Amino acid sequence: MDNRYFHPESLMMSHGYKPALSEGAIKCPIFQTSTFVFNSAEEGKAFFEVAYGQREKGPNEELGLIYSRLNNPDLQILEERLCLWDGADECAVFESGMSAISTVMLEFLRPGDILLYSKPVYGGTDHFINKVLPQYGIKGIGFTNTQSSEEIIMEMKTKGLGQKLKMVYVETPANPTNALFDLDECRKIADAFSNEENDIVVCVDNTYMGPLWQHPLKLGADLVVYSATKYIGGHSDLIAGAVLGRSKHMKRVRTLRTFLGNMAGPWTGWLLMRSLETLKVRMTQQAENAEQVANFLLNHPKVEKVYYLGHLEAGTKQHAIFKKQLFSAGAMLSFDIKGGKKEAFTFLNHLKLIKLAVSLGSTESLAEHPATMTHSDVSAEDKETMGISERLIRLSIGVEHYSDIIWDISQALENC
Ligand SMILES: *Cc1c(COP(=O)(O)O)cnc(C)c1O
Repeated sequence: MDNRYFHPESLMMSHGYKPALSEGAIKCPIFQTSTFVFNSAEEGKAFFEVAYGQREKGPNEELGLIYSRLNNPDLQILEERLCLWDGADECAVFESGMSAISTVMLEFLRPGDILLYSKPVYGGTDHFINKVLPQYGIKGIGFTNTQSSEEIIMEMKTKGLGQKLKMVYVETPANPTNALFDLDECRKIADAFSNEENDIVVCVDNTYMGPLWQHPLKLGADLVVYSATKYIGGHSDLIAGAVLGRSKHMKRVRTLRTFLGNMAGPWTGWLLMRSLETLKVRMTQQAENAEQVANFLLNHPKVEKVYYLGHLEAGTKQHAIFKKQLFSAGAMLSFDIKGGKKEAFTFLNHLKLIKLAVSLGSTESLAEHPATMTHSDVSAEDKETMGISERLIRLSIGVEHYSDIIWDISQALENC
């Protein structure tokens, strides 16, 4: 058994949990406790030395439990399980995707630094980069997937900004149009300005693909962030986030989390462990359903254009990136309805099974209007270049029977 490679989905029910430590309970209990009792003063001292990085862990030493802001079994076991999907050394779970993202940015950026970020990014991330970080003297510069790495490197050089670059932050596929960014190119930009004193980190928000369909750490990224609210949680019943990467970077992320105190609680950790047991079956079904829905929309007379990764044309650059980086076309798709806002709203107001709500990746299908909802904050100019028009509708496909989802879309389109 020790030599066998088990797939992550085979380990989601048991990995990292020892029933003997919990009265034989087959499932990890909820450790609803703030603090943990030490067996001796010496043990307490030893635990703190490791937790505060005063010395490295011994060969067979486990991280001792101290206080739930530092560690808690429901978080620790969950973090070990999340590492299996992405091939990470370490993971830290947060109370939201935004706390995961903001903690990473605050840890790796200092006043005077520059952050390069892909456009468009999630609205909350955009706000943090453009409204919050400037107050700390940190500047974000956006780039689109029409710019090559050579172009971006040249621009940074001519403006003399290379030495100030500290992070390349990428969201791929981008929300809501599924535009893809080449992670090799992002790595190239970081490497062009990295040296011994300047370790530029590449951070990828992998929320849209979940841990199943894209593994950025194997594609040159240093850090992966998730809104665990989406596919990882998957049931629209919690808010959480996660950061994954190599120990070198994760030590820093975990330490800042300890002092900002924005870790998730044990109840959220327990719910996420429960969610992870079905991650593969949920996401696989969602992707199969999405393919059916996308194909239905493609031929519908009231639909102008479908944005679905499974429809990318062979021979295009986007298709090449898709082949290189993704294992699936995913379960997020958007479409332009014929007409404008009026038709889009009529469609949304006539849905019977699909829920009209933001968020994504959940068991139930969701629909929303990016231009006036998730992306209403984006400037008119940026909306135009990114294709976020008033005709655009975004769908997150769930686990319902695909024929019911298609029936609902079909009857709602009849009203438009
Ligand atoms: C939802 C989302 C976030 C923010 O996560 P929260 O859990 O809501 O804080 C960040 N990035 C992407 C791509 C998201 O979809």
